[in-house]
Amino acid sequence: MVEKNPESHFPSTHLDAVRARVLQACRDANRKPEDVRLVCVSKTHGPEAISPLLAVGQRVFGENRVQEAEEKWPRLKAETPEVELHLIGPLQTNKVRPAVALFDVIETVDRPKLARALSREMNATGRRLPCYIQVNIGEEPQKAGVAPADVDAFVGLCRDELGLDIVGLMCIPPAGEEPSLHFALLREMARRNGLGGLSMGMSGDFEVAIAFGATAIRIGSAIFGARG
Ligand SMILES: *Cc1c(COP(=O)(O)O)cnc(C)c1O
Repeated sequence: MVEKNPESHFPSTHLDAVRARVLQACRDANRKPEDVRLVCVSKTHGPEAISPLLAVGQRVFGENRVQEAEEKWPRLKAETPEVELHLIGPLQTNKVRPAVALFDVIETVDRPKLARALSREMNATGRRLPCYIQVNIGEEPQKAGVAPADVDAFVGLCRDELGLDIVGLMCIPPAGEEPSLHFALLREMARRNGLGGLSMGMSGDFEVAIAFGATAIRIGSAIFGARG
């Protein structure tokens, strides 16, 4: 098959399109574009797909597995030290050490045992990373995250008792449900806890998330295409 415009399949072209949609969503919501971080979710994609994005200036990336990130990011980070790498997947306590060493932001603090392990490791290494608390906003049994009813106490534990640098809340709304009520709920939980960061919105719903105050959106498939 002859491609008329093969360039249109490049992730950097898709990134441009996503950036344009982010700008429009910010205009519609009367928000400043610099208040919304675009976290490019590169899980399952190799350096050959990531390098073109680094080349056009994308600096914030998200990965959901520590081991996968360890296989590709040390080299990419050596080439582009300003990269800011977010862990957006579940973190086992036995992976806390490599995670704190490699990542720049942890978005998935979701239980006391993990919070304590992160606190110990960050104190020991002096790498005090900004963290988000993941909230199981739809109270789905199979999903990670703190139950909505436990959020205030857990923020208190992480921030006041353990001294973690909690910058905000993160959520993944239930698939197939209208996301806006979940986004509004997360925003209210962050507000009452004095937290400015809201990591919410993915390829299918980031415009809605921006309208509801997202400060970080996590975009994978809209940039790289569907995952195989
Ligand atoms: C994969 C993933 C994303 C990106 O999802 P897309 O729908 O591909 O944009 C965002 N957040 C988390 C936690 C993910 O695991």
